[in-house]
Amino acid sequence: MGKLDGRVVLVTGAARGQGEQEARLFAAEGAKVVLGDVLDDAGGALAKELGEDRAAYVRLDVTSEGDWAAAVAAAKERFGKIDGLVNNAGILRFNELVSTPLEEFQAIVSVNQTGCFLGIRTVAPEIAAAGGGTIVNTASYTGLTGMAGVGAYAASKHAVLGLTRVAALELAGKGIRVNAVCPGAIDTPMSNPEGVDPAATAELYRKLVPLGRIGRPDEVAALALFLTGADSAYITGQPFVIDGGWLAG
Ligand code: NAD
Repeated sequence: MGKLDGRVVLVTGAARGQGEQEARLFAAEGAKVVLGDVLDDAGGALAKELGEDRAAYVRLDVTSEGDWAAAVAAAKERFGKIDGLVNNAGILRFNELVSTPLEEFQAIVSVNQTGCFLGIRTVAPEIAAAGGGTIVNTASYTGLTGMAGVGAYAASKHAVLGLTRVAALELAGKGIRVNAVCPGAIDTPMSNPEGVDPAATAELYRKLVPLGRIGRPDEVAALALFLTGADSAYITGQPFVIDGGWLAG
């Protein structure tokens, strides 16, 4: 018995990083997973590896209303319904607010915040039609506190928590629970962009994080599984920090 037997879950940004681990874990726990991303090669390869009966890749730029509609249609055609959504896709740029170009600010808000809004707006009616289910949004440690150099990102992640709380209130009566994960530093391509030595990243967080290490994407996936499955049946509207104790300091 898997914890997600019979469920059909759409995961955005599923081609790599946390989304990939969420897709892998959810499939291992019995779900059918719909993998949405803009990295077609990696997303397609992951779907193939997980198996046609268990996974499907759809090109889904989360900023596009048309892509959302097409992804939902493809998911229903393939697996008959959708009763879970993980809004995971996100982008990060480092810049102080006074030197952030408007286009950069808008691009970050567009993916992280508007993408989350479009996901809720498009998929929640499908989840309701399927008899209820769950939405897990991906905020951040910086959705709850400030951090110099990531103003646009932090603003967008604070907004994700606002969306989470309002969606939880509006959708509770339809049997849909909405929660958010708030990761600290997690060892993914986002934390190790080109030109950055992963060993230096790991050393930085060894010193900064109370538990003495950077987090792993499979650890965030385990939290997303908890929030998607029945073990969290009485929880909605909440942010869940997973940061090795960083925010406690
Ligand atoms: P990542 O960069 O490794 O993966 C992000 C994925 O999102 C990629 O596959 C990318 O192609 C996809 N994506 C980007 N723009 C997209 C778009 N417009 N439409 C669809 N897909 C798109 O990053 P990650 O670390 O796995 O991050 C996953 C989520 O976790 C993000 O929302 C991120 O902000 C959040 N987060 C990450 C960390 C961290 O330290 N890695 C910490 C806190 C929060």
